Amino acid sequence: DFGTLADVIRAHAVEQAGKPALVDARRTLTYGELDALMDRVAAALQRDGVGKAEVVAICATTSVEYAAVFLGILRAAAIVAPLAPSSTPESLVIQLKDSGAKVFFLDAQLAQHMAGVMDEVEAIRVSLDGSDAGAPLERWLAPEGAKPQLHEVDPDQGFNIIYSSGTTGAPKGIVQPHRMRWGQVRRGVYPADAVTMISTPLYSNTTLVSFLPTLSNGGAAVLMPKFDVKQFLELSEKHRATHAMLVPVQYRRLMEYPEFDRYDLSSYQMKFATSAPFSAELKRQVLDRWPGGLTEFYGMTEGGGSCYLQAHLHPDKLHTVGTPLPGHDIRLIGEDGKEVAQGEIGEVVGRSGAMMVGYHNQPGKTSEAEWYSPEGLRYIRTGDVGRFDEDGFLTLMDRKKDMIISGGFNIYPSDLEAELAQHPAVVEAAVVGVPSQAWGETPVAFVALKAGVPATAEEIKAFVNGRVGKTQRLADVQIVESLPRSHIGKVLKRELRDGYRTPAG
Ligand code: ATP
Ligand code: MG
Repeated sequence: DFGTLADVIRAHAVEQAGKPALVDARRTLTYGELDALMDRVAAALQRDGVGKAEVVAICATTSVEYAAVFLGILRAAAIVAPLAPSSTPESLVIQLKDSGAKVFFLDAQLAQHMAGVMDEVEAIRVSLDGSDAGAPLERWLAPEGAKPQLHEVDPDQGFNIIYSSGTTGAPKGIVQPHRMRWGQVRRGVYPADAVTMISTPLYSNTTLVSFLPTLSNGGAAVLMPKFDVKQFLELSEKHRATHAMLVPVQYRRLMEYPEFDRYDLSSYQMKFATSAPFSAELKRQVLDRWPGGLTEFYGMTEGGGSCYLQAHLHPDKLHTVGTPLPGHDIRLIGEDGKEVAQGEIGEVVGRSGAMMVGYHNQPGKTSEAEWYSPEGLRYIRTGDVGRFDEDGFLTLMDRKKDMIISGGFNIYPSDLEAELAQHPAVVEAAVVGVPSQAWGETPVAFVALKAGVPATAEEIKAFVNGRVGKTQRLADVQIVESLPRSHIGKVLKRELRDGYRTPAG
């Protein structure tokens, strides 16, 4: 047994009580204040009967209160289930029931979203913003000076349950153990003087891999309830931000912002990126225009193996997601479940000290996600397809579910998307396979265009089809305002496929 991340926050509070820990537009909490608030949250949870390893859910917009309550749940050695407010009310009820949450933290906006189904919520409700969505936080908290009972935890006990982003299907509750979070904290990428911009929603794993190590190492987290380019730049300047974790679409919006170069971003030491394909061209722009390094991570909430690319050190490898992190083993497997030969394409499977326990209440889904090596070691399947180059850098192609098999040929949407990106009018593009009588499946593209650069769908189709092989040709191009994206900025190809109607009807 060992301690929780909440214990290291206590240690920082003892050493540097007056140092800022959590900052948002309304308030700043110092380490001393955060530590005291965490005690009050943990003591109140214990008063309400929440024991060690029992689940507590939160579903709200990012705020200082949200972050402090998250850490307070940890101090009680309970399991946090941060839910996504963008889920449908029905899905939220399913997630709450599946998690078995005893207490549920929410805010006014979420209460309104769930109004029609709130009767089905059995958990005790506490409102983070003081609204009548539940007992107001201030009144619910244990009195000042309250001391909760502290527990040691088993490293394999659940730290949190994250319902997967659902990019490709129904949400699954991924149970991540304490061991996994400790592993991320010990990577040592966030120094004690880090000022980290948190501008993706707190409930996402992408955010937590940046938020938790920042706090555990004694740094400050600047929290944004929602991403706004101008505000991000202003806050970066104001707080002399040193680190940020952003998703590729946020980098793109920052690079497109006409005023970007006017801001003083010289305080930045390192930016991180993860979650979705990040083009070499966009990485290059970020490296050229934004001081400090750029590191991309490739991984998934389930864990397994992760790769990282220190883009500032490998300018010739920007088209890859880099090499496996120390302690991570990544292999590529073929349709037959056997490892492919060096240089060949296969499904990425990975193994490390940081893997999920499994999908909550879904042993069948858990075993589908596992792969065992001939030596009997457990790996997690990513569902992503990739290839290692001769220097050991991984290039990702596509998710397996997004690959297109047309007339017996494999088509990688990412190849076609790269061609589309070469057209001067295209801002963003996604290619999906749709049913075809002649070919089984055939590729169609959805593209969003730059304002003021005229182009027609026919012209873009001819442009791409003139550059690719015969078997890869696009059957159709549709122009859209923007691509549908998940709360963490991933393109929802499932929606594009389901919504597609052929031009003929
Ligand atoms: P669901 O499993 O519910 O469909 P999801 O896979 O999007 O959702 P996450 O665990 O948040 O949920 O995302 C992991 C996936 O995101 C990876 O499997 C990969 O497809 C994609 N991804 C993560 N990092 C990168 C990256 N650096 N470049 C390209 N794709 C990435
Ligand atoms: Mg996934």
